[in-house]
Amino acid sequence: MSTFLLEIVTPERLVFSEQVDRLKATGIDGELGILAGHIPMVTPLKVAPLAFQAGKQRTTYAIQGGFLEVRADKVVVLADSAEKANDIDVDRARAAKERAERRLNNRSQDHTDFRRAELALQRAMNRLKVSSSGENR
Ligand code: ATP
Repeated sequence: MSTFLLEIVTPERLVFSEQVDRLKATGIDGELGILAGHIPMVTPLKVAPLAFQAGKQRTTYAIQGGFLEVRADKVVVLADSAEKANDIDVDRARAAKERAERRLNNRSQDHTDFRRAELALQRAMNRLKVSSSGENR
């Protein structure tokens, strides 16, 4: 099977840069499966897992929103933040989830705080899902 270069980039650093066989991501319009030779495209990504396979090795990252760009020579994921399954601090994500849920239950706050809490909850749940996916490396 032919491979392609996958780069995962955050504002802080180049997180990942290796050849992979296939990639599964969640764009705003739904799930995307990408193999070598995919037509060039750009799509915003949801706060969701990103899974890829290189040989027998499967890896999952928690992607906290951003963009996926398929170029002729590589696939670039530009993410607000990206953590590999076994780098996720589960206690921290649980605490973030509880904090967000408390804020969502507090009806006295304004719309902006509510939206922020919703987004924080999405990030925490994404991290918890990825850390329990078992696809570590
Ligand atoms: P928290 O409220 O715990 O800070 P957050 O969702 O607000 O969570 P972000 O702003 O998305 O955090 O991320 C800030 C930085 O912390 C990023 O570099 C991100 O990779 C890292 N990070 C956040 N939560 C975790 C976690 N549970 N495990 C590992 N790294 C994390």
